[in-house]
Amino acid sequence: MKIQEADAKSLLVAQGLPVPPWAVARTAGEARTAAERFLGEGASQVVIKAQVLVGGRGKAGGVKLAGSADEAERVAADILALSIKGIPVRKVLVGPAADIVKELYLSAVLDRAAKRILLMGSAEGGVEIEDIAAERPEAIIRIHADPRLGLLAFQGREMAFRLGLGAHLKDAVAIAQGLVGTMIANDADLVEINPLAIVRETGPDGVGVERLQCLDAKITLDDSALYRHRGLEDLRDPDEEDPTDREAREAGLTFIKLDGTIGCMVNGAGLAMTTMDLVKRAGGEPANFLDIGGGARADKVAHAMRLILADPKVNAILVNIFGGITRGDEVARGLIEARAQQERDVPMVVRIVGTNAAEAAVLLEEARFRTAASLDDAAAQAVAASKGTAA
Ligand code: GDP
Ligand code: MN
Repeated sequence: MKIQEADAKSLLVAQGLPVPPWAVARTAGEARTAAERFLGEGASQVVIKAQVLVGGRGKAGGVKLAGSADEAERVAADILALSIKGIPVRKVLVGPAADIVKELYLSAVLDRAAKRILLMGSAEGGVEIEDIAAERPEAIIRIHADPRLGLLAFQGREMAFRLGLGAHLKDAVAIAQGLVGTMIANDADLVEINPLAIVRETGPDGVGVERLQCLDAKITLDDSALYRHRGLEDLRDPDEEDPTDREAREAGLTFIKLDGTIGCMVNGAGLAMTTMDLVKRAGGEPANFLDIGGGARADKVAHAMRLILADPKVNAILVNIFGGITRGDEVARGLIEARAQQERDVPMVVRIVGTNAAEAAVLLEEARFRTAASLDDAAAQAVAASKGTAA
């Protein structure tokens, strides 16, 4: 689950990281009020930023500075009228503009192959890090955190020195450790600060000082770990969730859309993977990964079928159920109910074994469903139906 910059910044603040203050505004008027406050507190300019879950907002005109409340209102209205990479902007972040001396990049990602959190830094921040990674991978510094102890102080110092942040050593180490801390505290897959900036501020005595600030924040949370953090679910942005993803989540189904033509309905993640493999081996392409879970009742099955059929590319469906706590006859009833409701007639091959398979077979035969004796047979039939070569 991706969360908005403003929410990501809250999680950074909770770990003690330096983030400039901000307000979120849904209208130009609200943006004006926020700007008046920051300008009144001494900011010479405010920054206004589109809150959409895509990168490259700056380039797309979604990040702008304003020097007065009037200008802030105008700029906010412009940004709120934008669509960035196809996503309409519904809210903006308003904050005091930073006086940037240098932009750097720092992130923590889950390195699954190494089974560790990987801290990545680059002295060239602000720009798209993917470009740097592709063109000059040596410009990215990589340090793995210890799986039990987190990022150790010496590792933070190594990162700081290699980024040229020797003059900000203490703060840089705290930020590096705080990023890894944010990952662990929230079960995140990614915590990215781009730019991490050296900013110029004026101290109380009027003398300029330079310090580090996290000016942007991008966090992706591990969906499977959300149950461990009650409050984080509230950060899901309903404005931006794909409708199919939402429907699946609310129905308790694990559904991931893919590019193929054969819809797959399976119970259990392992069986779902196997089914997809067999579809591929038989020469077809799965249209989705779908795990209806254990003990699914008829209505859940019907719901799953609606999700599969909502994809116009689906031209054949393979149902593969191994009845353990899931009862075969319940699934069969769900399929019959789903077919009665569905608007589109798509060939379907059903294989149900295990608990109540015999009852299921009777129901399916009465309803004239096409069934298969083995999984290989089911995959072959589904692929033939998809390619229009069925007997
Ligand atoms: P992104 O384009 O979606 O990654 O959005 P960012 O928040 O990273 O902003 C893009 C760019 O706008 C940054 O790389 C900065 O150059 C600039 N920017 C962002 N915040 C400020 C600010 O407070 N002051 C100034 N002067 N520039 C900013
Ligand atoms: Mn950025």
